[in-house]
Amino acid sequence: MALIVAKFGGTSVADIERIERAADKIACEVESGHQVAVVVSAMSGVTNQLVGYCGEVSKMHDLREYDVVVSSGEQVTSGLMAMALQKRGIAARSWMGWQVPIKTNDIHGKARIEDIDTVELHKRLGNGEVAVVPGFQGITDANRVSTLGRGGSDTSAVALAAALKADRCDIYTDVDGVYTTDPRIVPGARKIKKIAYEEMLELSSLGAKVLQTRSVEIAAKQKVSLQVLSSFEDHVGSDMPGTLVTKEEDIMEQELVTGIAFSRDEAKVTILNVPDVPGVAAKIFSPLADSNVNVDMIVQNISTDGKATDMTFTAPKNELEQALAVLTKQDFLKKSKIISASNVAKVSVVGIGMRSHAGVANTMFETLAEKNINIQVISTSEIKISVLIEEDYTELAVRALHAAYGLEETA
Ligand code: ADP
Ligand code: ASP
Ligand code: MG
Repeated sequence: MALIVAKFGGTSVADIERIERAADKIACEVESGHQVAVVVSAMSGVTNQLVGYCGEVSKMHDLREYDVVVSSGEQVTSGLMAMALQKRGIAARSWMGWQVPIKTNDIHGKARIEDIDTVELHKRLGNGEVAVVPGFQGITDANRVSTLGRGGSDTSAVALAAALKADRCDIYTDVDGVYTTDPRIVPGARKIKKIAYEEMLELSSLGAKVLQTRSVEIAAKQKVSLQVLSSFEDHVGSDMPGTLVTKEEDIMEQELVTGIAFSRDEAKVTILNVPDVPGVAAKIFSPLADSNVNVDMIVQNISTDGKATDMTFTAPKNELEQALAVLTKQDFLKKSKIISASNVAKVSVVGIGMRSHAGVANTMFETLAEKNINIQVISTSEIKISVLIEEDYTELAVRALHAAYGLEETA
């Protein structure tokens, strides 16, 4: 008998029929003797609609009220899921974030989970009751509803699994596992049977939205056994049909390149004529960090005259306005020119095998050169190489790289 947290994403609870199918899977796990906590997303499209409403009222809305609005989608599906389970003769009840409670910090709109009280949940699960918890939401110390950032139900599920010390966290979604790249972009992408936390962390943070980055961080830290699987197939999680995200030591064969991620959510800012003096990077990036702008790639050019230089960095597209507002306020940049572009994309190759093999970067640069794709910025870490390119070439670059590293499905 195992304790399982099962999360169903938006497309997996998109309508009543899908909720019923998800409930069937939970019923099957319960009948096999497992204890189950279910985490649900909002029905697909609902969160986007709610976010849209907030923007219609005001572009600069109060994020505490934004959280009240956008967290509501998950409330609906958790009630419906509890009803569907009850209909199957299973004792089930919903637990809103504030009822558990799932405590978060007060960064509204992208709050982080700080603590989950599991005493009552454990007691109920032990008595055979299924707990249905809405993903994405929590409560702050000030008793305000908070949300965890887009895709945050993955994080709710993994954090709950860690807090409950669950045997496994199953993430049911609309693909049957983690692939070498987004299978919607490269139909020949290959399903990965097991992937290391560290690689999954890179893939997620570099754009593979199949798991929210924060969920992988928690899984890695708390050693949560995490499975990504399809809710559209007949299997249940305990059949282990999906991709297991696990410790590096558990993976027998390590590929040189495991996968390719891409993100179109990038924007590029270049500051021309920055004074080339010690401390200037801190003066630029500290105020950006203070206003919660997530700066990613950074390049500083060599100064030709020793007095001024150019600085380029990337940040999420939806933080560009904020970044520009912060920079234009800085006195020391009065004589600089700030230019920005949002028609850029970041394409990254990821693999633990890179640690011990040279030549991965070269293959990337040659492949992109062959396709005439210009590289604007490069950044590397031990297990990844990222390049910033023009957005229009994203798919071309991903397909060409996928082929160049031999990642396709072999018949
Ligand atoms: P959910 O609503 O279930 O949370 P998401 O849309 O957030 O689902 O995530 C699933 C999607 O992630 C898939 O439909 C797929 O297009 C995308 N995706 C991106 N990269 C990958 C990858 N490497 N492997 C699998 N899916 C990926
Ligand atoms: N409903 C939220 C979103 O669409 C959270 C989630 O589904 O993970 O971002
Ligand atoms: Mg998701």
